[in-house]
Amino acid sequence: MEILGIAAIRGGPVVSEPWKADWLRRIPAVNLIISCQELQEANQRYGHDRLVSAVQRHCHYLRTQILSAAHVEQIRPDDFAIKTICQHIVRILAEEIQPRLRPVINATGIILHTNLGRAPLAQEAIVAVEEVAKGYANLELDLETGKRGKRYDHLQELLCRITGAEDGLVVNNNAAAVLLVLSALARGRQVIVSRGELVEIGGGFRIPDVLEQSGAQLIEVGTTNKTRISDYEKAITPETAILLKVHPSNYRIIGFTESVNREDLVRLGRERGIPIVEDLGSGLLNGYDTSGVFFDEPTVQQVVRNGVDVVTFSGDKLLGGPQGGLIVGRRDLIAQIARHPLTRALRVDKLTLAALEATLQLYLHPDRVCEKVPIHRFINRKPDMISRQGQSFVDALQQSQAEITVQLLPSTSQIGGGALPEVELPSWSVVLTPKEGSAQTFAESLRQGRIPVMGRIQGEALWLDMRTLSTEEVAELGKLIIEAISKFKSSERGGSP
Ligand SMILES: *Cc1c(COP(=O)(O)O)cnc(C)c1O
Repeated sequence: MEILGIAAIRGGPVVSEPWKADWLRRIPAVNLIISCQELQEANQRYGHDRLVSAVQRHCHYLRTQILSAAHVEQIRPDDFAIKTICQHIVRILAEEIQPRLRPVINATGIILHTNLGRAPLAQEAIVAVEEVAKGYANLELDLETGKRGKRYDHLQELLCRITGAEDGLVVNNNAAAVLLVLSALARGRQVIVSRGELVEIGGGFRIPDVLEQSGAQLIEVGTTNKTRISDYEKAITPETAILLKVHPSNYRIIGFTESVNREDLVRLGRERGIPIVEDLGSGLLNGYDTSGVFFDEPTVQQVVRNGVDVVTFSGDKLLGGPQGGLIVGRRDLIAQIARHPLTRALRVDKLTLAALEATLQLYLHPDRVCEKVPIHRFINRKPDMISRQGQSFVDALQQSQAEITVQLLPSTSQIGGGALPEVELPSWSVVLTPKEGSAQTFAESLRQGRIPVMGRIQGEALWLDMRTLSTEEVAELGKLIIEAISKFKSSERGGSP
């Protein structure tokens, strides 16, 4: 490592300032650092190679600090003390073994946040996943006959019972479900879609592109704001394979609009012998209406009852389960879809099936869904309950913090995940305003903490919506904020490695 030090002097920028050369010499040798008593435990835990690599990187960091400093005053002598160096190494190593994918506290107020993994699972689903994860399972085995079974059979009956459909199938996600349905039913033929429904859902899912991938030809009808049943009628040819209806999700056209209602489309399809396929997106099951939230959203059951032949929807949006793409509908069509080779490529694993089965079972008791399925619990939380939780928390924080103003203010949560963008749920947020420095920097400290916390910056403050926080998370959040404040204070003083 001495060699690297010299290389930095020789090969890198010429060190003309004597104080720089002097500080470069003060970086301890790698071997000396490694043999420190303070690092022996790290040596045991992480292994020699990892330790050496961390020490080398930290020495490199120190050298860069010296070489890029404009004045000798920018050098912090303490950073070069062997004790401080050892502390940094221990921290670097501890951070390195942290999984890259880890739990985050969602205080954004968006209940189904795609970037934060959408729906947290119900306790029942977590238990089911654990049970099948730790051993073998009858994934493709019929326990009655002892013969080979189909992995989809486990869910089929439950799906039919809940949705009222004749048959059902599950694939990797709803995007996959749409692609599969179109590939199996419309490849080389035509699919009629209203121009008002040619949407992009986010994450690069665009209906026209998916149609192209499936090998079907898109026939657009109507205009962006108005499509009538006669538009579909005129577009039907012997080549028409499907009439496709797409839920516009996070997009709404308001004002001078007209769209074809499902019943009329189904009637037309029946008359001409053409199946209706609907991509329902979020897929609300059992629209409880205690809060009136879901007022306008059709349930999967309603869509099936309306006579739509094939319906697709997500497992991790309003259903509140794991990622998955559910396909329900007419028996002959589901069989045709299941036979398509893509079904094999898009198949789900035993963990998804376990979580989905356990989540769907909760829907057999509709009156308990709001209590058992986390996202529905969050959607239904009453503002005064959220406020009570926030207030006790704010009181505790206020007393101890001089650097940050802490308030509890009314805010609005959203359902998210492309579902019901117009629904605003009244909520309460803990609002943190740094007295010095920016809310952005403070948000960063909180995001990079022991458990990352995600909030929303609004003006000069960081808003933490309390709606989706569990009691344990609220308890943890207080500590995380205090930790972030102390990190924030030191970063305001000029950063640390
Ligand atoms: C969300 C959504 C999709 C994509 O579903 P994933 O499960 O994320 O693949 C497709 N169509 C609609 C209408 C959606 O809302």
